[in-house]
Amino acid sequence: MNSAHPHSDDQALTSIEFRMRQAGEWLKLPDGVIETLIAPRRVLEVSIPIRRDDGTRERFTGWRVQHNITRGPAKGGIRYHPSVSRDETVSLAAAMSLKTALMNLPLGGAKGGVAVDPKTLSPAELERVTRRYVSEIFAFLGPDKDVPAPDVGTNAQVMAWVMDQYSIGVGHAVPGVVTGKPLALGGSLGRDSATGRGVVEAAMLVCQANGTSLEGKRVVIQGFGNVGMWAARLAAGWGARIVGIADVGGVISDPRGIDIDALVLATRNGSTSVVDCGIGEVLARGAERSTEVFALPSDIAMPCALGGAIDKDEAMTITAKYVIEGANGPLTPAADDILNERGVIIVPDIYANAGGVTCSYLEQCQNYAHLQWDEDEVNASVVNTMRAAFKRLHGFATQNGLTYRSAASVLGVKALADAHQLRGLHP
Ligand code: NAD
Repeated sequence: MNSAHPHSDDQALTSIEFRMRQAGEWLKLPDGVIETLIAPRRVLEVSIPIRRDDGTRERFTGWRVQHNITRGPAKGGIRYHPSVSRDETVSLAAAMSLKTALMNLPLGGAKGGVAVDPKTLSPAELERVTRRYVSEIFAFLGPDKDVPAPDVGTNAQVMAWVMDQYSIGVGHAVPGVVTGKPLALGGSLGRDSATGRGVVEAAMLVCQANGTSLEGKRVVIQGFGNVGMWAARLAAGWGARIVGIADVGGVISDPRGIDIDALVLATRNGSTSVVDCGIGEVLARGAERSTEVFALPSDIAMPCALGGAIDKDEAMTITAKYVIEGANGPLTPAADDILNERGVIIVPDIYANAGGVTCSYLEQCQNYAHLQWDEDEVNASVVNTMRAAFKRLHGFATQNGLTYRSAASVLGVKALADAHQLRGLHP
């Protein structure tokens, strides 16, 4: 499959539509099917007026996109970030459709978000934004319809408000309307670590497939939030050496391996960035320099911060042989092309960060059954699901001479197309 991209605006939506169309061509789908799969099923744009603490009124815009609901209830996070837009939300929802299909989870793909910087809101304002957003998209939501989860800028507390607002609307408690909620409201053990656990499992599996292991490998990570922090902890636990970590504050490094436990403790004790912890050597300060972490000598790079972090320049300087995409869409299409040409093995986001949605699915199962599984059971199930999906992905890529990214898109699109074919076209 030709992996060259159209040199349009390199935006995430163009990119995922291009990938899906390419997969459709590879599969030789009957005329029109791929366009049906690419188009989001439902896009809801809502206005969110709230009262600020000082009594003034402010208005934000939010979206909820159900991209595909053929295989099961829509599933996808809620993002609060100033750059949230309709197109970004549609592209992330499409990625969720492919992700749940690739992972063989009986779910569809969705995403939601509000164009707001949550750091500029007080906790009370954040709650008002959340409650108003949920009441505007209320008719879309439900355990059998659409189940949100946390994403950038939202957390378990926000999910608790989502659960409460929805439950008030229907008149009884509905824990299964949302995942990533606090344990006390029916959240799952293991949810916190699940995405990072999946990223590290992906790294181990791709090393294994290439006749090597994670042990002793030099790893660089961008992002020390939920995904990056857990990826660092678990990779270090398997004997990898974390030689560089970057976050919004800059880059730290230690060629002998950063003391991850100490770093976790320092960030828990209030350090707002890895560069303020007094651990490792501070190589750069500021978000704009955080991608310098990828130029450090390393074997594995794990971009676990925001989308589009690695563009052409960074792609030229990456030293790692493997890139494991913890974040959603961390490589621009141009960077992806350059890394492929350089022979770097890329494990794509729709597989690499799927540990999170896998655990969310397990949370839904527990909610349906009114049970709570123990943490080891949840973690083992996440790992087993990652392993089974890697077996399919690696086997398919190898048999057909495809990159992991192309193979993942084809497998995802195929599962969606098969489901569409079986259900038939209404009316
Ligand atoms: P988070 O908010 O917990 O952490 C984000 C991290 O990225 C922080 O360390 C922050 O300092 C850093 N960061 C933010 N802007 C940056 C910048 N401009 N330069 C460098 N670093 C920057 O978020 P998270 O939950 O860890 O999610 C990270 C990525 O993983 C996102 O792309 C998200 O969509 C994706 N993802 C998350 C999950 C999940 O379960 N949390 C699941 C799948 C995918």
